[in-house]
This record gives sequence, C-alpha cells and structure tokens, in this order.
Amino acid sequence: MFEVIIGLEVHIQLNTKTKIFCSCPTSFGEAPNTNVCPVCLGLPGALPVLNFEAVKKAIYFGNAVGSTIHKKSIFNRKNYFYPDLPKGYQISQFEIPIVEGGEIIIDFDDGSSKRIGITRAHLEEDAGKSIHDGAESKVDLNRAGTPLLEIVSDPDMRSSDEAIRYLKKLHAIVRYLDISDANMQEGSFRCDVNISIRPKGATNLNTRVEIKNMNSFKFIQKATEYEIGRQIEAWEDGVFDEEVYQETRLFDVQSGQTKSMRGKEDAADYRYFPEPDLEPVIVSDAMLEEGKNIPELPDAKKARFVKEHAIKEYDAAVITADIEMAHFFEKMLAEGASAKNSVTWLTVELQGRLKNAESNPVDAVKLATLVKRIDDGTISGKAAKEVLDYVMENEMGIDETIDKLGLKQMSDDGAIEALVDGILLANPDKVEQYRGGKEKLLGFFVGQVMKESKGSANPAKVNEILKNKLA
Ligand code: ZN
Ligand code: MN
Repeated sequence: MFEVIIGLEVHIQLNTKTKIFCSCPTSFGEAPNTNVCPVCLGLPGALPVLNFEAVKKAIYFGNAVGSTIHKKSIFNRKNYFYPDLPKGYQISQFEIPIVEGGEIIIDFDDGSSKRIGITRAHLEEDAGKSIHDGAESKVDLNRAGTPLLEIVSDPDMRSSDEAIRYLKKLHAIVRYLDISDANMQEGSFRCDVNISIRPKGATNLNTRVEIKNMNSFKFIQKATEYEIGRQIEAWEDGVFDEEVYQETRLFDVQSGQTKSMRGKEDAADYRYFPEPDLEPVIVSDAMLEEGKNIPELPDAKKARFVKEHAIKEYDAAVITADIEMAHFFEKMLAEGASAKNSVTWLTVELQGRLKNAESNPVDAVKLATLVKRIDDGTISGKAAKEVLDYVMENEMGIDETIDKLGLKQMSDDGAIEALVDGILLANPDKVEQYRGGKEKLLGFFVGQVMKESKGSANPAKVNEILKNKLA
C-alpha cells in the first residue's frame, strides 16, 4: 500500500488596477500588446517601481491564513529564457518572501477537518502569453507584469480529494478577501501540483513530479489521479527509478494523461540574485495595522450561519463556499425570508435550475419573495416550483406569476370550512366510523377536500379544520 504526498503551488492574479512594476492597466481581453510600456516590455534602461497595492493584498492574505508578515522582504531575479518573458528573467521573491507560514483548514463531508500548512506566499510578476497558431507562434505581452501572489503549501495532502478541498477553500478565501477575481477560465487562479508516493509507513520523500499550470478543479483532479497511478504502476513494475524522475509534466486534456514537458530545474538553475533595480520591500507599521482589517472569512461565516439561523452545518458549508452565494443568502434573510426555506430554494431549487441556464434571471429579492409566499402559506411548495420555472423563462414578478398561473392556496378559513362541511355531510357513514375510533379515515377526508378545492386548499389548514369538526 502506498501513501501519496501532495503539495500545491497556486498562482493568483491580484486584482490591482495597474501592473506590479509599471502603471500599465491589468484589464483582461484587450487587443494584443496594447497594455504595455518599456518596463513590462523589458526594454533596456527601463526601471521598475513597486505597486504597493499588490503588497497590501499579499498582507491581507497572510493575515487571513495566520502567517507571519515579514516587515522586510526582497525581490530577486529568477533567470530563465522563455519567449513570453521579455527581460530574460522574472522578478520574484526567493530568500525572504513577504508572507511565511500559516494554515488553511479543509473540511470533509463527515464533519471532520484537517490542517494544511502554508509554507510561504511571495509576490512576483506574471509572464506574457504565447499563442501557437499553426506554423506560427505569437506572443501577447499584455499579461506580462501582472502581479501574482504565489501560495506554496506544505506537502500535507494525501489524496486528490484533499488537494481539491484545499484549492476550493483557498479559492473561497481569496474571493472573500477580494484580492483576486480568481477567475479560473481567465487564468487568474492557476495551480501546479507536486506529487510523490512512498510505501505506507516510510518517512523518506521520494522523487516528486510537478504537473504545471492547471486552471480547472476537474482537470486538476484527473491529472493528479493519473499521475498517482503512473507512479504506483512504475513502482510495482520495478521501474520506478527509470520512469519517475524530477520533471515537469503537463496534463493533456484529450488523452487524460500527464506528459513530460521538461526536466524540472533546481533553484540553482535559476541563478537567483537580489534585484538591483528595486529596494527591499519595507512594510510600515501603519500598513501592518491596516492589513488586519480583513472581512469575515468562509469558516467564520459558516459558524455564524449555523449559530444564528439554525441551519445545518452541511448547508452552511455549501452556501459559504462561494461569496456571491453567501451574500445572496444574506440578502434573502434581510428581505424577511425564512432561513430554512431559503436554504432549500437557493441551494437546491435555484442552483439546480441554473445548471442548464446561461444566466440567472432571479435575484435575491425575487427568490426571497417566493420563499415568503411559501412561508406564509400563500402557495404550496409544489406550486412554488411552477412559479420558479415560470420566472426562469419569463420576466415577471412572483406575485403576478402566482395570479397568472392561479396557484394561490385557499387559506381563508371560511372557504375551507364550507368545503369541509360539504364533504362531512356527504359521508355520514365515514364520519361515524371516524368518531368510533377509525382515525385513519382523516386521510380520506383531507383527500376529498383537496380534490374539491382542485388542489388549492392549504393542506395544513384543511387538517386543522377537519380535526376540529370531527372531534
Ligand atoms: Zn508596463
Ligand atoms: Mn511562480
């Protein structure tokens, strides 16, 4: 039996307005090579100037995960050649990163949790993008110089499942902090996975393989599982040393396999040295203080939801995993919808319908209105599903839709009583049997009244009134 050792490096693009060492905008999707200047083009003689907004965001992150913030950190040159790196080196941090230590707690479905250590988080600049177009390769340098925070975990994860839970929690945290949009399709949240295996019980670390640059949870999971399988197979076949060596691999979406990209460089290959064009980063006491003003994070929000609204731990975890969903829920409660029904109608009914929808036409106020109509008995849960289906397709208010579809429940006591009286009069024999102890007949009476009302009577009221009259 084998133990799997996984450590993750995640690059998140910080959502500053301008790049990390120049004042070019960081906007996504512009025409190629328009957000550029001599600094991010790496023209000779151009000098970088640090954007302190990036430093502030790194400090927020460090405080959110319980790290040490170094009051003095330094930038280094990491030398390597790549067409999308015009200077021939990347400005990064090496010996002294701005953020060191810390932890992220991951949760499992059975309610247990596990601590994953953070080794460090450092600031660096992003590279540009190479675009391969048939025989031609082109380079777009709009992204060159975008600030990145590289977050390195300890090798604490033991399965692809744990790795994904860590990534999802990290994703949620940076979105709560609003330091990155963490948009995975646009590459604002990218992950490198380091994987090694060893026989259970062993304590040494074997050769690790890195799978680079993935931006989908699904692919990360698949790539990790494939790579674990490849290493175990090599071990069992007695060819581990030949087939598993320190290298960088890429995940091939088509085949579902990882493929060798290049031998993995050691730190020495990069010839790191202090960046001579930038002063050390000095974090002032005022910045340190300011950096403590972090918003409520997912774990705290989850605990508060459970405590204040008496919702299930699992539901609270689902809602707080995404900040937009958490805000949506909070807005529904502020509108006066009950917590219990809000959970169901947000996480099950609306989310279920959104899986096949292109956009969400139902905002928090609208969904809260629907829930309030269920809460006060205006419509049944079954009718509410019809209403939601309708407003997903049509631009109409909840109350208008209830009227239009004729789904209002009969909740008026007088009207229900009249129906009940009619049913009791028509079935004197059954009334006698009921009073004689055959209480199962209640279901028969309820059914008759519901039928008579064409399903519109409020079942709770029907029950209550029937019981009173039959007593
Ligand atoms: Zn620039
Ligand atoms: Mn990096």
